[in-house]
Amino acid sequence: MLVYVDNNATTCVAREVFEAMVPFLTDQYGNPSSAHPFGKSASKIIVSSRENLAELLGCDADELIFTSCGTESDSTAILSALATQQNRRKIVTTAVEHHAVLKVCKRLQQQGYKVEYLPVDKHGRLNLADVDNAIDDETALVSVMWANNEIGNIYPVERIAEIAHARGALFHTDAVQAVGKVKINLSSTAIDFLSLSGHKLHAPKGVGALYVRRFTPYWSFLTGGHQERGQRAGTENVASIAGLGMAALLAQENMEVEQTYVKGLRDRMEAGLLATCPDPAVNGDIEHRLPNTSSICFKYIEGEAILLRLYQAGGICASSGSACTSGSLEPSHVLRAMGLDYRMLHGSIRFSFSRYNTEQDVDVILEKTPPIIKALREMSPFGH
Ligand SMILES: *Cc1c(COP(=O)(O)O)cnc(C)c1O
Repeated sequence: MLVYVDNNATTCVAREVFEAMVPFLTDQYGNPSSAHPFGKSASKIIVSSRENLAELLGCDADELIFTSCGTESDSTAILSALATQQNRRKIVTTAVEHHAVLKVCKRLQQQGYKVEYLPVDKHGRLNLADVDNAIDDETALVSVMWANNEIGNIYPVERIAEIAHARGALFHTDAVQAVGKVKINLSSTAIDFLSLSGHKLHAPKGVGALYVRRFTPYWSFLTGGHQERGQRAGTENVASIAGLGMAALLAQENMEVEQTYVKGLRDRMEAGLLATCPDPAVNGDIEHRLPNTSSICFKYIEGEAILLRLYQAGGICASSGSACTSGSLEPSHVLRAMGLDYRMLHGSIRFSFSRYNTEQDVDVILEKTPPIIKALREMSPFGH
């Protein structure tokens, strides 16, 4: 039995996505840059995939560049903003970004750039006055994620983009967790760059995209061939781009399902666990959160122990906020930025749903989890 509730880590490839990819992994292996008709069928699917994605994001197709992943899109946006505005040497970002943004910023600091990490409150929320104060005439880029992968918080990126522009800074958002889960209409925003990743929305791993607003200055660290209209060198991952195009179409069709069915599963599970587990607490901003994500803190116990038992008991795949680094359990930087007590940091579990989850999945979680939490609390030195 498998109860997969770790969809913020990665998602299953949709059947339709797989089928859309097969021709480009078999017969239609042409290079889209080739002049002969055989190559042209590969270049056609790239055009239509780009149109599907543009439809999902409410932008123009020629504002989208296909990349290899969300990480590449994040790096490209950040490095582009610095390369095109060499008189501005500061980045404003948040303490709760994904490592794909944070580690790039850390590296840039070592190279002499200034980076300001905006703090969050105990619910993981930003204070817009802090954002306003942090952005100055030296700021090249403000980078704030649309939705947080660990706690699901949705940030007011449209407002923040306007604040950034008022100071002459560019604005980037890591929307890897938002695309396909919340409605996005880029044409009515001031956002300059938006990153997304295929494998978080039922396309395969190893494909992503970067939105670059028309007239936003752009530079890519990848140079070489003329692919992507000279904006991202490297022969296109045609099959995966075909998959991402289909995933965008499916996401568009299922947008309501996220807010109704997926949210319903999440809410029923959350209410059930809150009612049956000792001393639980929900992490994050309950009012402004992704419909699929629930991060729950079980005080005084180790998340890793909970995860192991959840898997043994019911094939339940969830995630803890801790990343096991070199044998030591390092608590999540997101929960730490929220100032969570150390006894709460370690016992936080993230459940993240998708439209492929079922009511039975929730039943299994609600049956298996409470006894595990109770047993582990019995064993905990603080727990009773
Ligand atoms: C998964 C994720 C990324 C990285 O995307 P990849 O395609 O795996 O490189 C970046 N940001 C957020 C918020 C993510 O959840």
